[in-house]
Amino acid sequence: MDDETPSRPPRRVATTLSHAGRDPSAFHGFINPPVVHASTVLFPSVAANRSRTQRYTYGIHGTPTTDALCDLMNALEGSEGTALTSSGLSACTIALASAVKAGDRALVTDNVYMPTRRFSDSFLTRFGVEIVYFDPLDHAAYEAELAKGAAAVFLEAPGSLTFEMSDIPFLAAKAKAAGAVSMIDNTWATPLFFRPLEHGVDLSIHAATKYLSGHSDLLFGTISGNGQAIANVRKMVSDFGENVGPDDVYAVMRGIRSLKPRMAQVEHSARKVAEWLDADRRVGRVLYPALPGAPGHALWKRDFTGASGLFAITFKGRTEEEIMRFVDSLEIFGIGASWGGFESLATMPKVNAARSATRWPEDEPLVRLNIGLEDPDDLIADLDQAMAHL
Ligand SMILES: *Cc1c(COP(=O)(O)O)cnc(C)c1O
Repeated sequence: MDDETPSRPPRRVATTLSHAGRDPSAFHGFINPPVVHASTVLFPSVAANRSRTQRYTYGIHGTPTTDALCDLMNALEGSEGTALTSSGLSACTIALASAVKAGDRALVTDNVYMPTRRFSDSFLTRFGVEIVYFDPLDHAAYEAELAKGAAAVFLEAPGSLTFEMSDIPFLAAKAKAAGAVSMIDNTWATPLFFRPLEHGVDLSIHAATKYLSGHSDLLFGTISGNGQAIANVRKMVSDFGENVGPDDVYAVMRGIRSLKPRMAQVEHSARKVAEWLDADRRVGRVLYPALPGAPGHALWKRDFTGASGLFAITFKGRTEEEIMRFVDSLEIFGIGASWGGFESLATMPKVNAARSATRWPEDEPLVRLNIGLEDPDDLIADLDQAMAHL
């Protein structure tokens, strides 16, 4: 996968997670790269300052610390370049904005992360970009919109809140044929479970706030890709003066080193909890693509190599108040936004406030669960006791 030389077989991802993005010999043998706090970089002469051929020229244009994380992400995503941004949301907005100009159309999946929708509607439309939301499961409608012209296609799978799986290789191939730049918010899968560039997508976006950092203590975004698509992203990051702090870069890298065992535990626990919920008569549907019989399971199985710990359950024949009582009665699960940290969370989102091309059935409210690193049997016991309050 990375470090391919004729004399050595490609390394497996766990080895990449340990070894990519660092060069001890370049830093006196220390295992981790230095945390470089920097604005000014000095040059030996005016001529050197003007020629700008020095590797580092100013803090905002990169440091050994940011380079280390970019190298690590490139190894994980199979990309040529990575841009770092101040939040997951800014990674989504910059990626999208980098691919469009006034007069262009952008197709955005209807189950996109809500703030990406808000940015598209408020900011991009103000600059003359037409935003079209599409149902990712309606291929005919998607192709019809592509035929009318599109500069960018924004994907997310599984979808925010409702966890539909879409046929990413198909959607990306059609986008490419139509001349559109395709990008995907890959936060749910992490690069461990889905590598979008290998499935024809141009840009892979992460809210590193979630699993990559993994500890609910910072906000961070990454965008990885090849060729002109990532060059345009980097130009936009530079034009906006977007910057990330070195301590956060370091914390994200530290989080990524343990990504594999954390995700293995999260997947094990999430499956166990999801299976328990699936067998419980009080629950409607379990929207977890890794579960046989769940919506999108076949696509998940075809394209993804694992599942993370974020999914939703629905209820039928229950009032909003009853479900609120259930969530309020949870003792281990916290109520709060974000996910991908070590602790379990529950939220009760209003799905239709985040949809325009599709409708979620109003009589099927959902609760979104983030399964953390607690003992899954304790999580099941907590859900069980809280359901008594339904
Ligand atoms: C949380 C999230 C983001 C945004 O990340 P922030 O760092 O909180 O801005 C983007 N996409 C998805 C799918 C998310 O869940």
